[in-house]
Amino acid sequence: MPPATSPSRDQDPAPGEAWGRTGGVVLLVEDEHSIGNLVRSYLQKDGYRVVWVRSGEEALIELARHAVRIVLLDIGLPGMDGFEVCRKMRARSSVPIVMLTARDEEPDRVAGLEVGADDYVPKPFSPRELVARMKAILRRSEQNVPDEALTLGTVALKRGAREVTVDGRQVDLTVKEFDLLACLLEHQEIVLSREQLLDQVWGMTYAGGTRTVDVHVAQLRRKLGRPDLIRTMRGSGYKAVRE
Ligand code: CA
Repeated sequence: MPPATSPSRDQDPAPGEAWGRTGGVVLLVEDEHSIGNLVRSYLQKDGYRVVWVRSGEEALIELARHAVRIVLLDIGLPGMDGFEVCRKMRARSSVPIVMLTARDEEPDRVAGLEVGADDYVPKPFSPRELVARMKAILRRSEQNVPDEALTLGTVALKRGAREVTVDGRQVDLTVKEFDLLACLLEHQEIVLSREQLLDQVWGMTYAGGTRTVDVHVAQLRRKLGRPDLIRTMRGSGYKAVRE
């Protein structure tokens, strides 16, 4: 008996084939249930973590809450459309964005990608095709980012994949928590003042106070489950300490 035809499996690359690293958070913005479901399960099988929202408003909130590696953004959305969402995302982030477009959705504007998207994939698409395009973008956008893990004890952080693990288990961090942890890990055994951390992680233009740093450190300790790794230095700031 001939082997059962399995259209997606047959064409999948062999494990380890250079298709780029998988993993990290994909923010999927798609209001159509069947498409969202299909894409999500395909990506999950491929090792990505998927945050799926149905509107642009939710997408902007989730973009700030997770260390998102790439955004898959439908154009026809209830409320704010995909173009507007893309523009707003671009104003605050350089995360790669792939637009998902229906045939009749302003092809010229999409082709021009004037809103700052990195690529577009016309519907209908096969999930396989979408993931291949997505990986091509990731390869392109991440090729210059060295991705050796920064480690501290059992905590490992990969900048390119924007991925943090503790004992090999993935931890879901917000953008600022991720950047703060990266900054602390880059300066192990060095005391960083709250002002230095604010400057490095939030930027000079940030108007909030140093209390923001304390709140984020507390969140990091809780999420990592390793409060001992980030030590409070009384009156001076914080230090990432090696075990
Ligand atoms: Ca739609």
